[in-house]
Amino acid sequence: MTDKNLVLGGMLYEGKAKQVFTAGDGDLVLIHFKDDATAFNGEKKGQIENKGVINNRLSARFFRYLETEGIPTHFVALINDRDMLCRRVEIIPLEVIVRNIVAGSLAKRTNQAEGTELGEPLVELTCKDDARGDPLVTKEEAIAMGAASTEEIDRIRTLALQVNEKLLPFLLEKKLKLVDFKLEFGRDRDGNLLLADEISPDTCRFWDTETGEKLDKDRFRRDLGGVKEAYIEVWNRIGDFRSSET
Ligand code: UDP
Repeated sequence: MTDKNLVLGGMLYEGKAKQVFTAGDGDLVLIHFKDDATAFNGEKKGQIENKGVINNRLSARFFRYLETEGIPTHFVALINDRDMLCRRVEIIPLEVIVRNIVAGSLAKRTNQAEGTELGEPLVELTCKDDARGDPLVTKEEAIAMGAASTEEIDRIRTLALQVNEKLLPFLLEKKLKLVDFKLEFGRDRDGNLLLADEISPDTCRFWDTETGEKLDKDRFRRDLGGVKEAYIEVWNRIGDFRSSET
């Protein structure tokens, strides 16, 4: 698929890091990745040079890999440096967080040291609601608020754990520890659940296996410096240089 034969419609949505346009016959969307960065539910704002390019290409790399491992995703094709074609889905208004190591809000909430290994991966659900700070919800609350059915939540949990199982060794090979990450899921026109949104240093915590160096958005959140260099480093380790596709 090239720019030439892709019919683009209007903008459906503009978020903090991406714009979404209708595409094709209405079953598709074009996702445009921006360099804008936000943290703390929009309170901190900035730009990370070429983040959009790296997150677009990295997300495509992850989605392609996960598809080959049997995970259904919304990814269709990489169009160019900043644009990706995806199946149109109705996003389930939950953020699904998978954790292998204690960090961030879990460290605060449970008073555990960052870096503590969890015996088992932990799956958390939060409401997609910046204004209320993405509050944690139980499975029962998510069902009661109509976000998803019981079957959908069970399937989301299974898929999220499968994504973790597939990403852990893939990243370890690149000397990256997958500390935690956030996923979003959507329903296609036929009601099938697909992994959606993005997988990138904006939505994952990656630590270097040898030095423990943070190679993700925490460098921006916590003013650690070397933000764009960290994104480039992740791309250099994971990018698919053998692929002849854009
Ligand atoms: N995360 C995200 N979007 C959010 C909240 C969290 O992508 O709105 C990711 C975050 O990058 C990390 C994981 O989910 O990889 C767990 O984040 P946490 O709950 O620790 O929140 P934070 O400390 O980032 O506020």
